[in-house]
Order: sequence, then C-alpha cells, then structure tokens
Amino acid sequence: MSKPLYITMHEADNVAIVANDGGLPAGTVFPDGLTLVDKVPQAHKVALVDIPAGGAVRRYNVTIGYALKDLPRGTWVHERLLQMPEARELVGLPIATIKPPVQAPLEGYTFEGYRNLDGSVGTRNILAITQTVQCVAGVTDFAVQRIKSELLPKYPNVDDVVALEHTYGCGVAIDAPGAEIPIRTLRNISLNPNFGGEVMVVSLGCEKLQPERLLPPGSIPIVDERNVADVGTNEEAKLDVVCLQDDAHVGFMSMVDSIMRQAEEHLERLNARRRETVPASELVVGVQCGGSDAFSGVTANPAVGYCTDLLVRAGASVMFSEVTEVRDGIDQLTSRASTPEVAEAMIREMAWYDAYLDKGRVDRSANTTPGNKKGGLSNIVEKAMGSIVKSGSSAISGVISPGEKLKQKGLIYAATPASDFICGTLQLAAGMNLHVFTTGRGTPYGLAEVPVIKVATRDDLARRWHDLMDINAGTIATGEKTIADVGWEMFQLMLDVASGRKKTWAEQWKLHNALVLFNPAPVT
Ligand code: CA
Repeated sequence: MSKPLYITMHEADNVAIVANDGGLPAGTVFPDGLTLVDKVPQAHKVALVDIPAGGAVRRYNVTIGYALKDLPRGTWVHERLLQMPEARELVGLPIATIKPPVQAPLEGYTFEGYRNLDGSVGTRNILAITQTVQCVAGVTDFAVQRIKSELLPKYPNVDDVVALEHTYGCGVAIDAPGAEIPIRTLRNISLNPNFGGEVMVVSLGCEKLQPERLLPPGSIPIVDERNVADVGTNEEAKLDVVCLQDDAHVGFMSMVDSIMRQAEEHLERLNARRRETVPASELVVGVQCGGSDAFSGVTANPAVGYCTDLLVRAGASVMFSEVTEVRDGIDQLTSRASTPEVAEAMIREMAWYDAYLDKGRVDRSANTTPGNKKGGLSNIVEKAMGSIVKSGSSAISGVISPGEKLKQKGLIYAATPASDFICGTLQLAAGMNLHVFTTGRGTPYGLAEVPVIKVATRDDLARRWHDLMDINAGTIATGEKTIADVGWEMFQLMLDVASGRKKTWAEQWKLHNALVLFNPAPVT
C-alpha cells in the first residue's frame, strides 16, 4: 500500500486512522487534500477538521474524548491530547428499544462433531483430569506425561489428555460471597462438551474444596451404566476420584499408577466415540480480543461481528464478553436486548463489575495497556467501541454470570473480565467448543481444551506471524477483501476446525495458556 490512506468509521466522525504500514510523515497529502501536520504512526488518529479545545472527538459516531487544546486539521490525535468522558450511568438506559431485523435462517451448514449424551457436541475428543486443589498439580502432571507417552498411542481416537490445573482449592475463603464463581467455573469446565462427560478428579484429601462440593451428586453426567445403580438418574452417578492422601497409597508411584489406571477406563470409552454430522447450530463459539490496536475495531472485529451474525442465523450460540470493553457502549447493548429482562441482566452485570473495580479503587480505564496506546487506542472508550462490534447486529438473547453454564442458543452476553486467560477460562466453563480471538499487536494465545482461531487485524502482523495467525483480516484495510468476505472465510474455517479437518496454528504448535480462575473472594 503506497498511496496515503485513512479509514473513517462513521460519516459523523471528526478523526480517522492512518492505514499505511509504518505510518505517514508530516506533510503527507491525502487524495482529498487533507495534509498531515505531524508524523502519524499506523493505526493512529488524524483530525479531519479543526477541533477546538474542549470539543468532542468522535470515532464510531461516539465521543471518545474531549480535546485538551486546539487540534487543527491534520494533527496527530493521541491519548495525551484527550480527556476521557465519564462512564455512562446505569440508569435511564434505553431498554430493548431496537428490534434488529430478523435475518433469514442459514440452513444446510454442518460439521463433524462428537455428540454427547446430554445433547451437547464436542469439537475435540479430550480426556480432562479435574483437580480439586493446586497441591496435586505436580503429581497429576507427572501422570499425564506418562499417560501421553504410554497409554494414548493405544487410543488413537482420543486427541489429547489435559490436566485442568489451577491455583484454587485451599487457602481461600470458600464461603465468602464471590467464592461460588471459581467453584462453579471449575465444575462447569469439567463438563465442557469436548470432554465427553468423562469426569475424573484428582484430590489431595485435606483441601477446602472437597470433591463432592466441586461436583455434587446430580452434576455428573452418566456415561456408562456401570457407574450408576439406577440408569436414568444421574443422582447416582459415582464421582471418580483419586485421593492422594488415601491410606492405600504407599509411595509416589502408587499415586501415579492409580491415576493412570483410572484414566485408562475413561480413555477406553472416549476412544469408542466417533464424529457424526451435526448442524452448525451445535457450535458454541466464544469470541474475544487481546493485544488490540486501532485496527481491531476496523478489520478483525467487524469481520467477527459479520461471522457472529452468520452463526446466529445458523442457530448456533455465540458469546461475547469482557465487561470493561462493553461498559462504555452499554446503551448500545441494552437497546439491542431481546427483552427488558435481558437488558436488566446486562445492567446488573455492569453494576456488579463497577462495584468490584471500585473496591480496588480503579475504574474501567485500568483496562488499556501500553501496547493498546502504542497501537493507536487512546482510551477505554475508543477500545470498547472497537471491541463491541464483535457482537454483530443480532438481538442479544441472553446473559450469563461468570462461571455459569450456557443453556440457550443465539447471541449471548457472557459477563467476564477482559483478561484474555480469565475470559477464555470462563467461556470454557460456559460450554464453548470453539474460540475466536482477534489481535492487532499480536499474541500467541491458545487453550489446550478447545481450538482457538486467531485473527490478525493488520497485514503486517499476518505476514510476520504467518505461522501463528489463522486469518488475515488486514486485507479489509488494504481493500483486497470486504468485511463480508473475511466473515464468510471465518465461518467456513470454523466448520473445518470444528470437524477436525483443519488444525489451528495454536494446536499445531501445542501452544496453550494456563486456566486462570476468576476469584473475586478473599484468600486466607
Ligand atoms: Ca481479552
């Protein structure tokens, strides 16, 4: 791209972002006559008109800040020149005022998935080993390495063995308000569709989070009639627990052997599973962004939004999340709620999070990172406007709280922190079977539990990280492709990845981040 190019998001905007790789020098003249007063880095903003001191700076047709001094046309508009607007109050919001036109159902799209007894569908066939407490992590990891090398080759239909390691379980105020969040998160992750209902637990014995508190009777699926006294009620399903402090264990190898023996029973059943053709409506997609830049909201996130609409039309479930990145657009979301109850639930989640941040004496502005700012995002308002577009244009049909399991189709707001690892962990608990992640600055993010499709916002990133990024949405900025082109490309890739026909780069290299539980309660 040699011709100077800027991108405007809305006709009412008075700033645009510079699209050219490497940015543009002062004195650059655009085809319409706009001349740069300053050097402007790529993805950073330029004033399209003279903006007086105190004047509103608008992008996405939203005020992202107020000018701290006169900003003549052609000025580089960066975060030090802007005062951030106050957060919108959570009263007097528009409630379910917009009825997005219902789009034609998208029929005939399928993928090859693993159907579970509870009706959910997995995109991978993984043995997950749940842990009640961090104390057992080393022993479990040792056993998992041996399971991978000694047992897994005998069970070729099983994709992987994953230890669900975490830092919770003891040394925590387990009855404090908020403690139910990490506990239900762990429970619901153990029941993720990619694990086939094969719940297996390693416990220490003396920890606060006892196995029956983590997975009480009734919460475990029946996977085998041998496990139940009376087939048909899962109240009787026996929880499979290896307890390290059990008197029967003499020596370390006895513990490892016990985990391996139990694992083999689950591997046998998992290995008997086969993929079958299921409708695209069985996808449960979690979308998020991380390492964002000003292109995130121009290329990758709008393409995700387009794909979100396709998924909703296909009858699938799509979750968008990240409270601090939607907080400044709450009016856009409450107005798009399908019912007043959904709008109220959204407001409740925002209010809860405002109070949570307030306890730490910060607000939503603590979200932005040095990299975001270097990438042209001046503040959280601008970042939020670019983040929210991942949700597309459909009506929002439901809201879930952190760690809850999703039980409905359509576009869902899953309230989570914006932290990449915590958001991913909570979307896993909600039942996500496919993850889409957009990035502008670049992150090698991945999860062991579910495939992660990564989308680059810029050509330059896609080129340099050619074996880490699955989709290049930078082609939208250069004009090679439209948002719809990339949205459809993403949809098709999702069906291929969900079917196991294609692996994501993160799967290829086995890149995965730790599960990080959201624990708003005190530790002791
Ligand atoms: Ca994030």
